[in-house]
Amino acid sequence: MRRLLTNTLATVAVSLGLLAGCSRSGPPSLLLVTLDTTRADHLGAYGYARDTSPTLDALAAEGVLFERAFAHAPITLVSHTSILTGTFPTAHGVRDNGGFTAHGELESLAEMLSNRGYATGAFVSAFVLDSRFGLAQGFDEYDDSFTAEWSEDKLRDARIYNQMVTDRPADQTTSRAIAWLAEQGDEPFFLWVHYYDPHQRYAPPRPYDQLFFDSPYDGEIAFMDAEIARLFAAVRERGDWDRTLVTVTADHGEALGQHGEVTHAVLTYDSTLQVPLIIKPPAATPWTVSSVQATVSHVDLLPTIADILGFEPPAAVAGRSLLPLLTGGELPARAAYFENALVRFSFGWEAVFGLRADGWKYIHAPERELYDLEQDPGELYNLATSNGERSQELERLLFRTIADNPPLVTGDGEPQAMDAEILQKLAALGYVSGTGSSTAELNRRQPSGRRSPLSAAAYLADYYLANALAGGGRLREAADIFSNTLLPLDPENLSFLTSLANLERRLGRRERAFELYRRAQALAPDDASILVELGQLERDRDNDEAAGELLRAARQLAPQNLTAVYLLAALAADAGDSAQAITGYEEALAIDASHRDSLINLAIELARSDRLDEARTRLAAALAAAPFSPRAHYNLGLVELRAQKAEAAATAFRRALRYERPYPAASLGLATALIELADDQGARRELETLIAEAQQPAAVERAHALLATLEP
Ligand SMILES: [Zn+2]
Repeated sequence: MRRLLTNTLATVAVSLGLLAGCSRSGPPSLLLVTLDTTRADHLGAYGYARDTSPTLDALAAEGVLFERAFAHAPITLVSHTSILTGTFPTAHGVRDNGGFTAHGELESLAEMLSNRGYATGAFVSAFVLDSRFGLAQGFDEYDDSFTAEWSEDKLRDARIYNQMVTDRPADQTTSRAIAWLAEQGDEPFFLWVHYYDPHQRYAPPRPYDQLFFDSPYDGEIAFMDAEIARLFAAVRERGDWDRTLVTVTADHGEALGQHGEVTHAVLTYDSTLQVPLIIKPPAATPWTVSSVQATVSHVDLLPTIADILGFEPPAAVAGRSLLPLLTGGELPARAAYFENALVRFSFGWEAVFGLRADGWKYIHAPERELYDLEQDPGELYNLATSNGERSQELERLLFRTIADNPPLVTGDGEPQAMDAEILQKLAALGYVSGTGSSTAELNRRQPSGRRSPLSAAAYLADYYLANALAGGGRLREAADIFSNTLLPLDPENLSFLTSLANLERRLGRRERAFELYRRAQALAPDDASILVELGQLERDRDNDEAAGELLRAARQLAPQNLTAVYLLAALAADAGDSAQAITGYEEALAIDASHRDSLINLAIELARSDRLDEARTRLAAALAAAPFSPRAHYNLGLVELRAQKAEAAATAFRRALRYERPYPAASLGLATALIELADDQGARRELETLIAEAQQPAAVERAHALLATLEP
């Protein structure tokens, strides 16, 4: 209704010639740009000597630069949830990547603006922000398909090789965002664009690889900045620049070796907590300053945006509007909370939390840390012991802040067990995740006796190296580092144990993998994903009974664990219980309708039960999800053979062989179909090729037998 009225008024205004130039009316639009992993001090506007950021520097010159802006966690999903809800992690409940989802009960900025008639679009660049993690709420369009800009050829190759795509570069995200902008009408828009390029591994495209050959991290920032220029140009071309509030920040920084940390997500120093923040208000909002010195944090963004766009933020919001600072006014100083619970969920170490207040920074961990930020901005001299009074005062303030920001949503804080696909995609991005421990004991005043992240920082470099080697396919070297260096230092580290177990399995050392998963299970008996791994290994060892027990236990803990449900169905199929297998695969498909292996195996079971039409329908669905799957084509061939449709069977087998060769079973299927079609010559050719490929003795024997039935 509101939208209709606004449009009508706008039409009247235009027809009366009331609006000059820009024909739009109503509140300003909002462009939110989040830069993953971007340090403020690597941007020109913050004094960096190299020319990494001409676009952002120009934006800062036009708007307001915040010299001291901070994230609440050095972790992507946690930070973005704080930005989009204006609340601390203790309140919104998202404490780590992967195992947590922003709860539907939370009110996000996108919902607030959508309710006010805004067109809302989000374009994210990494799987960590996939819509399944809850940030899509309130967006008309949430674009997290990282292959959307790919050519048909590139897509086909990726599918054939089963390539995993977990992020996309800035040029592709920008093009999608610009295309969306072009489709928008006169109503105000909220466009959120997330860029991932400065995240490790650093590999900028031409010419940035050469311009910044000695610092590829800077090259990634420069590439991203050039793409932001293209995005800004699209807003200007629409005539919207002056009526758009532009906000740019990062989710966290990057340590780049400071304090012994290579990247981010482990320690809580300012290398990873300080972020750039630039705000360019719409022309109608007057602002008089060019930079702000006051300490601000991510929760302040939402109320500031609400203030500028002209609405009241919900009461649950923790931050406050920074608008007074833009006009040279002042705000009373406020403490800024931060935490890192990833170390708890991913490594089994003590969670870390703390705050900055009045020029001091306090870190609450097994070793308490206190830094005088005025004298020691590098956080090098821990004064916790020598200035115990200050330390205790800040500790009290910290726990008051935590108590003042309790969970906002029901059922908050319990991480969900992740299925294998999520774990694999997070690992591909460099994150190891996540063990299903409870958050109930998270914000503890007394340490629980777990390992301190600070003491662990010494071996982080080896950990990063092992991950990089594993990511590059050098599995044996990676496994050696975990076995010989990391596990001896930290034998109860769940991530080390499960990472090594995964490597051992991929190296074919099944018994060793099994033993490592058992050790992990003893440490985290409620972790469904570990039970699933053990179940899978037992099935590989033909211990079907033990496998079933483990998988049922996993399912009890995590009913929606796709891998557990799927493997239980596969076990039923192995045991010849077709009816049970069919039910199981259908349950798996209720969790993920496009799960390829479930679609194919369900079709096989349906064909076995002579339900050929249903089998064909399932295979069609599998082929829609995976058009180049040799296995799906092969099974379609079998169904058609059974249905005595030899022509269709031959076509399906030929397709299977186009995408995989040699594929002895498909060759035998094709020959059988050709014999049915009285094409003896074709059948002979196929069988002779199969024999020449000499892949499987049984198949070769079968080929000879079939050849013998043909006329010479
Ligand atoms: Zn991030």
